[in-house]
Amino acid sequence: MTRPFNFSAGPATLPESVLQQAAAEMLDWHGSGMGVMEMSHRGRHFGEILAQAQRDIRDVLAVPEDFDILFLQGGGSGENAIVPMNLCGGGQLVPNIDVIVTGAWSKKSAQEASKYASVNIAYNGAEQRFTTVAPAASWQLSNDPTYVHICSNETIHGVEFQELPDLKAMGCDAPLVVDCSSHIASRPMAWDRIGVAYAGAQKNIGPAGLTLVFVRKDLQDRALDICPSAFHFGQQAANDSMLNTPPTYGIYMAGLVFQWIKAQGGLAAIEAANVAKARALYAAIDASPLYTNPVDAAWRSRMNVPFILRDEALNAPFLQGAEAAGLMALKGHKSVGGMRASLYNAMPLAGVHALIAYMTTFAAEHA
Ligand code: PMP
Repeated sequence: MTRPFNFSAGPATLPESVLQQAAAEMLDWHGSGMGVMEMSHRGRHFGEILAQAQRDIRDVLAVPEDFDILFLQGGGSGENAIVPMNLCGGGQLVPNIDVIVTGAWSKKSAQEASKYASVNIAYNGAEQRFTTVAPAASWQLSNDPTYVHICSNETIHGVEFQELPDLKAMGCDAPLVVDCSSHIASRPMAWDRIGVAYAGAQKNIGPAGLTLVFVRKDLQDRALDICPSAFHFGQQAANDSMLNTPPTYGIYMAGLVFQWIKAQGGLAAIEAANVAKARALYAAIDASPLYTNPVDAAWRSRMNVPFILRDEALNAPFLQGAEAAGLMALKGHKSVGGMRASLYNAMPLAGVHALIAYMTTFAAEHA
C-alpha cells in the first residue's frame, strides 16, 4: 500500500515506521500479553514506557533538570485556562498577564486567560493581518506582569518566532509562557528564556489527547485555589503525571516518536530537514505568479505554510487535483482561505517535492 502525503495541520501525519511498530505491538507489548491500551497505568510495564518516554523527551529536547515534563490532558485549549490557574495565585492582588497576539491562537489564549486575570495585549499584529511581528523592544509590556504569553508558531497564520524573546534582557523578570503546540520538536528550544511551555501532541508528537507541559520547578507553587488537582502543575509533578490516569496510549506513541527522532539523528538533523522542506516550498511559491504567501520572510513558519491562489475559483479544482495526486488535506483554514501545507517532522522531503511538482503543473495548466 502506498500512503498519500497528508498535509493536515493536526491531527497530522506520523512517521510510518512508528505506526508500523505500534501496529506490531498492538496485541502484545514486549511479551507482556497485553496491548498498551489495556495496561494499568500503575503496572510495571507502563511504568517502563513512561520512564523511557520521559528520558527520550528530555534527551532529544535537551530539557534542563530544573524543568518537570508533565503528561496531561486538555490540549492547547485546556492549557489556555490551566496556565493562568497555575500561575496567578502567586500573591498579586490583581494578576496581570501580558499576551503577544501574533495570530489566531495567541488571540484565543488572551481571551481564555481573561477569565482569570486582567489581560494586557502588549502587542497585536491584527493590523498587519498577522503577517509579521514587531520587534520585541516595541512591545508594551506591563510593569510587573504575572507572566508573558506567546504562541511560538501560529498554526493558522503561518507565523513562527525564529528566536524566543529574551524577557530578562528587556528588563522584565516575568516567566515566559510558550504555546509551542505546532512546532515542538522541530527545532531546539531556548530553555533559559522559558518558564512554561506546552504543546498538544497531535502535530509533531502523536495522537490527540496528550498534552506535553514543561514547567520550571520554581513556578509550581503559585496555583489559584480553584485549580483542579488533575491540572495542578506542582501536584502532577510530585506524582509523575499519575495523580489521575494519564493518557497512556498517547504517552506510548510519543515515546515511539521521540525514539524515531533519535534514529533520524536527533533534533539537529530534524531541524535541517525542516529547513530544507520549508525553503523548497516557499521558493516555489515565491517563483510562481499563481501562488502567494503573505508572511514577512523573517517570520515565515517552517511547519505551516499558508498560500493563496490568484483566483479563488481555482481553489476547488486545485484541491480536487491534489487529492487525485495523493496530496491530502491542503485546504486552508477558513479564516485565511486558500491552502495550507503543514510540513511537520514526519512529512518527508519527497512529499514536499511531490506537492511542488503538482503546484507547478497546475500553475502551467492555469496560466
Ligand atoms: N495552540 C496552537 C498553536 C494550535 O495549533 C492549536 C490547535 N490547532 C491549539 C493551541 C489548540 O489545541 P487543542 O485543539 O488541542 O485544544
